[in-house]
Amino acid sequence: MSEIRLDGRVAVVTGAGRGLGREHALLLGARGAAVIVNDRGGALDGAGGEASPAEQVVEEIRAAGGIAIPDTNDVSTLEGASRIVATATETYGRLDILVNNAGILRDRSMAKLTPEEVGPVLDVHLGGTIWMSKAAWPVMAEQGYGRIINTTSAAGIFGNFGQTNYAAAKAGIWGVTKTLAIEGARSGIQVNAIEPGARTRMTENLLGDLADRLDPSLVAPLVLWLAAAECETTGEVYNVGGGRVARVVIAQTPGFFSREVTPEALRDSWDTVNDPDLAEVMTSFQQELGVLVQLLSDGDRAG
Ligand code: NAD
Repeated sequence: MSEIRLDGRVAVVTGAGRGLGREHALLLGARGAAVIVNDRGGALDGAGGEASPAEQVVEEIRAAGGIAIPDTNDVSTLEGASRIVATATETYGRLDILVNNAGILRDRSMAKLTPEEVGPVLDVHLGGTIWMSKAAWPVMAEQGYGRIINTTSAAGIFGNFGQTNYAAAKAGIWGVTKTLAIEGARSGIQVNAIEPGARTRMTENLLGDLADRLDPSLVAPLVLWLAAAECETTGEVYNVGGGRVARVVIAQTPGFFSREVTPEALRDSWDTVNDPDLAEVMTSFQQELGVLVQLLSDGDRAG
């Protein structure tokens, strides 16, 4: 089996001083990419900051024979994101791979949620993903090549108690991923997202008995595969953790259709509308619209 190599490629990994980002950076570096190890080095809630987490990961990559440079800019503004991308282009001359991973937590249930717990969480996760992608976009478009791997979460897909702020950001990243995959198609830019599960400082108190088996190094192989030139997938989201990798899909039931729709008709058809056994995977807005167009034209013919 030939090894997937990234020699000559340049990668930015945000939030790479710890946890999942560190593992992504180590693996990309081990496979030959020059890695910009970005991390502000703050607390879990985003407070403070120090250079040592990013510097330590750079030392680890270099000690293993790889190429890396630290960066402590903040991903949550376009200015910070532009400086991170400039580090890549000015140091290594290009940018092929962007892993949007940086994140913070400020969990709070709705009754107690404050603006200070919403704004910064949206800014780092969703803003960081948008601004980093925007800063990288002209470089990748000019090259006619790019791989962007975003990080969403089960909270954003399924919801989670006390995480309105985080879920909003992570669900937003789902939409950003789908949209940038559409926009990037003509420029050779592929955009996917991971929905990870791993033991890090973000989750160490939540995983219980599973913690030992959810080593963060089990997520990085998917990131490397999505970053590889030979992977042609775009616009998809993958659950990954503990050794499992699975595509996450949107599905729709055939639903209810009548030009004389009434609340009572919906009540009487509700089980069919909701029946998951009838659901079909939907991959685009056009596919969804096509179902309606077909129903309408069948109705016209019948009428
Ligand atoms: P972590 O706290 O270990 O790592 C996050 C890193 O991001 C930290 O080193 C932090 O300093 C850095 N960071 C925070 N704000 C930044 C900013 N503005 N600019 C640059 N760097 C910044 O947590 P983790 O578990 O490794 O999380 C990584 C990503 O995975 C996050 O997006 C998180 O939401 C997501 N995620 C993790 C899990 C899990 O099971 N660990 C589950 C779902 C999603």
